[in-house]
Amino acid sequence: MIQIVQQREKCIGCNACVEAAPNRWRMSKKDGKCTLVGGKDKKGYYILNTFDDEWEENELAARICPVKIIRVVKL
Ligand code: SF4
Repeated sequence: MIQIVQQREKCIGCNACVEAAPNRWRMSKKDGKCTLVGGKDKKGYYILNTFDDEWEENELAARICPVKIIRVVKL
Protein backbone atom coordinates (compact mmCIF):
# COMPACT_ATOMS: atom_id res chain seq x y z
CA MET A 1 0.00 0.00 0.00
CA ILE A 2 0.99 3.61 -0.50
CA GLN A 3 -0.19 6.82 1.10
CA ILE A 4 -0.78 10.05 -0.80
CA VAL A 5 -1.03 13.33 1.10
CA GLN A 6 -1.85 16.76 -0.29
CA GLN A 7 -1.75 20.07 1.55
CA ARG A 8 -4.62 21.32 -0.55
CA GLU A 9 -4.81 24.87 0.71
CA LYS A 10 -1.45 25.70 -0.92
CA CYS A 11 -2.40 24.32 -4.35
CA ILE A 12 -1.93 26.85 -7.15
CA GLY A 13 -4.04 24.90 -9.65
CA CYS A 14 -1.26 24.32 -12.19
CA ASN A 15 -2.77 20.99 -13.32
CA ALA A 16 0.57 19.12 -13.34
CA CYS A 17 -0.63 16.38 -10.99
CA VAL A 18 -3.78 15.87 -13.06
CA GLU A 19 -1.65 15.29 -16.15
CA ALA A 20 0.66 12.89 -14.29
CA ALA A 21 -2.09 10.85 -12.61
CA PRO A 22 -5.45 11.68 -14.20
CA ASN A 23 -7.36 8.99 -12.32
CA ARG A 24 -6.31 10.31 -8.96
CA TRP A 25 -6.37 14.11 -9.36
CA ARG A 26 -9.14 16.40 -10.52
CA MET A 27 -9.33 20.15 -10.94
CA SER A 28 -12.12 21.74 -8.94
CA LYS A 29 -14.29 24.21 -10.79
CA LYS A 30 -15.29 25.72 -7.46
CA ASP A 31 -11.95 27.01 -6.24
CA GLY A 32 -9.44 26.27 -9.01
CA LYS A 33 -7.43 23.90 -6.85
CA CYS A 34 -6.98 20.24 -7.55
CA THR A 35 -8.57 17.54 -5.47
CA LEU A 36 -7.13 14.19 -4.47
CA VAL A 37 -9.88 11.81 -5.60
CA GLY A 38 -10.97 9.71 -2.63
CA GLY A 39 -8.88 11.73 -0.19
CA LYS A 40 -10.11 12.40 3.34
CA ASP A 41 -9.65 15.84 4.87
CA LYS A 42 -7.61 15.88 8.05
CA LYS A 43 -7.17 19.49 9.10
CA GLY A 44 -6.41 20.66 5.58
CA TYR A 45 -4.29 17.65 4.63
CA TYR A 46 -6.06 15.31 2.20
CA ILE A 47 -5.00 11.74 2.77
CA LEU A 48 -5.57 8.53 0.84
CA ASN A 49 -4.20 5.01 1.16
CA THR A 50 -4.21 3.06 -2.07
CA PHE A 51 -2.46 0.26 -3.95
CA ASP A 52 1.16 0.06 -5.09
CA ASP A 53 0.28 0.20 -8.78
CA GLU A 54 -0.49 3.91 -8.36
CA TRP A 55 2.98 4.62 -7.00
CA GLU A 56 4.74 5.62 -10.19
CA GLU A 57 2.35 8.24 -11.54
CA ASN A 58 1.68 9.77 -8.13
CA GLU A 59 5.34 9.84 -7.23
CA LEU A 60 5.77 11.75 -10.51
CA ALA A 61 2.97 14.12 -9.51
CA ALA A 62 4.71 14.74 -6.19
CA ARG A 63 8.01 15.41 -7.93
CA ILE A 64 6.64 17.88 -10.46
CA CYS A 65 4.25 19.78 -8.19
CA PRO A 66 5.80 23.27 -8.25
CA VAL A 67 4.78 24.08 -4.69
CA LYS A 68 5.74 20.64 -3.30
CA ILE A 69 2.51 19.94 -1.48
CA ILE A 70 2.07 16.30 -2.56
CA ARG A 71 3.77 13.52 -0.63
CA VAL A 72 3.71 9.85 -1.52
CA VAL A 73 5.10 7.21 0.82
CA LYS A 74 5.12 3.42 0.89
CA LEU A 75 3.26 1.99 3.87
S1 SF4 B 1 0.73 19.88 -9.11
FE1 SF4 B 1 0.59 20.78 -7.05
S2 SF4 B 1 0.08 22.95 -7.37
FE2 SF4 B 1 -0.27 21.88 -9.30
S3 SF4 B 1 -2.46 21.41 -9.28
FE3 SF4 B 1 -1.37 19.63 -8.43
S4 SF4 B 1 -1.29 19.93 -6.19
FE4 SF4 B 1 -1.85 21.86 -7.15
